[in-house]
Amino acid sequence: KQRTKELSTANEQLLKISTIDFLTNIPNRRYFFEAGNKAIHLSVRQGEPLAILCVDIDFFKKVNDTYGHQVGDEILKLVASTMNKQIRKSDILARTGGEEFCMILNNTDKNGAYTLAEKIRKTVENSYFKKDSIEIQTTISIGVTHLENESEDLDTLVAKADEALYIAKKCGRNQTAVYP
Ligand code: GH3
Ligand code: MG
Ligand code: MG
Repeated sequence: KQRTKELSTANEQLLKISTIDFLTNIPNRRYFFEAGNKAIHLSVRQGEPLAILCVDIDFFKKVNDTYGHQVGDEILKLVASTMNKQIRKSDILARTGGEEFCMILNNTDKNGAYTLAEKIRKTVENSYFKKDSIEIQTTISIGVTHLENESEDLDTLVAKADEALYIAKKCGRNQTAVYP
């Protein structure tokens, strides 16, 4: 009985390690792609809309260079938890890269996704990281897209959202761009 309990605890730990990002405590890239493709199938099957957001922190290299990597890590945690508080329980927010995040928004169309993206962007802009006497403002750029036809998979959607994100960066950062 004891052995079974230990095994079950070990399995739980393994599952956590393989799906949760260690630093920010939100789902990782692997989990995002697994859960995301399932969400797309469900959305197609039920005829419900689905949208994707890709988020990238602006000038993050400069934050690390100015305040150090440790402060950079703290800001990553703050941005992740700030965003996590803005979304529904049915949405999936994951850290897909160093200072990059993606979100799957179930039952959400393009307009709804844009509205949420702007809300998230403004909340992050207004959430200062405070340490000792320093206050650091972080901004993010966001790319939005939605599921347009049944043949699209998550790779396709993320590529579209990334393209929109690139436009948001090029237009001056701290803004949301929608894939045309
Ligand atoms: P842009 O506005 O164009 O996105 O500029 P940027 O500086 O954010 O972009 P760039 O891709 O040049 O730099 C990303 C930085 O993110 C560089 C890297 O050191 C930092 N970074 C990535 N992962 C982590 C991490 O886990 N912790 C910390 N502290 N920094 C990280
Ligand atoms: Mg980046
Ligand atoms: Mg960046």
